Amino acid sequence: MSTSPTSSQMMPGMPARVSPGKLFMPQVYIMKVASRCNLDCKYCYMYNLADQTWRKQPRKMSEEVLRAVARKVALAGTPAQIIFHGGEPMLLGQDYYRRAVQIFREECPKVRLNFGMQTNATLLNDAWVDTLYELGIGVGVSLDGPEDVNDANRVYRGSGSGSHADVVGAVRRLQSSEKGSKVLGGALCVINLKQDPLRTYRHFVELGFKRISFLPMDGTYESPPPGKVAPFEDTPLADWLIPIFDEWFQNSQGVVVSLFEQIIQLIFGARGSYVDLLSTYPKALVVIETDGGIEPTDSLKSVADGLTKMGLNVLHNDMEDIFTKDLFLHLQAGEEGLAPKCKSCVYKYVCGGGLLAHRYSERNGFDNPTVYCADMYKLLGHIERRVGESLSPELMQRLRTAMARPPVAAREGGSPPALDA
Ligand code: SF4
Repeated sequence: MSTSPTSSQMMPGMPARVSPGKLFMPQVYIMKVASRCNLDCKYCYMYNLADQTWRKQPRKMSEEVLRAVARKVALAGTPAQIIFHGGEPMLLGQDYYRRAVQIFREECPKVRLNFGMQTNATLLNDAWVDTLYELGIGVGVSLDGPEDVNDANRVYRGSGSGSHADVVGAVRRLQSSEKGSKVLGGALCVINLKQDPLRTYRHFVELGFKRISFLPMDGTYESPPPGKVAPFEDTPLADWLIPIFDEWFQNSQGVVVSLFEQIIQLIFGARGSYVDLLSTYPKALVVIETDGGIEPTDSLKSVADGLTKMGLNVLHNDMEDIFTKDLFLHLQAGEEGLAPKCKSCVYKYVCGGGLLAHRYSERNGFDNPTVYCADMYKLLGHIERRVGESLSPELMQRLRTAMARPPVAAREGGSPPALDA
């Protein structure tokens, strides 16, 4: 019998209580406007891992839900990132976004809003480019690398054929106009450890991307990510990323690799990170499902069916109600929420113990280092060394001091950074 947790259970590894003075209201809203997708990526946490609740979700988010979210954003009054996500958000058509942005503008006239969309881009055409530009929606494009790499996993639902050619066509379309270049954010690449890292990285550089976000595949100690093997002392992720880091560090060619830049900033003492698998800083993020459900970060769907279901909904709950739920508290627990090994780790403020989902085991709940711990330790050590070699001894000393300095507690002011969604 599985002992996978449900959201109603108190899980081991949860902090007993986080002081309300340390909690942040959401600043990033991942809007699951579409619960269906035209692709069927083999690793997708929405459809192909533990959670299957998408089957009961409405296909699209209603105007009522959009307006309820917008009112909560207005009430919070702080700048907000609104990320249209899915499923595939472009399945809903352009008029949906005209209306959605209009609703947010109507309800939040005094709030600085930043709109984004994470898309597989297979449906993008010239009309989409115009609409995204007109509405000020930046797009992140999901693509995993060269054709054979991408199409090993990112295939069309039904036919099973690869999506690479269509996505590259969409990227070219975006790059070929001033409007398109302005809305194109970066590439989001889910790492396939079986594939050649440098070939993968160079593909994005050759395509002209100026920003690349590498994401490790999701998994837990019970259902390890592809390539990770118990007792998890192997380092395939670090071994995959290190050659890319070396090439990028030697000559970045103007390309931002979010993971590397954020690691370097954290090594130098930055407090937070927009890469959500790094740093102990609070993750001020909510996921809004198509039915209005308020949920924590969606990578937790890889842990257990229904885990992210909190019983909260924008139609009848206050946003503050998230602070009555263990999973939300844990996402903002910072150092308090780390496993003992992480608390004594020299890289704790950089690594932050990894994504909550990647910490799960049946035995300890979330009270573990990330399943990628050995990888993170090796990667961070390598980056620290390489950066250190390029600095004077005096600067190295300052770097070490910065690493030993805890981040300023949230209650002392400041706000967590927006995430690379
Ligand atoms: S490297 Fe390992 S021990 Fe250190 S903070 Fe990360 S997960 Fe924890």
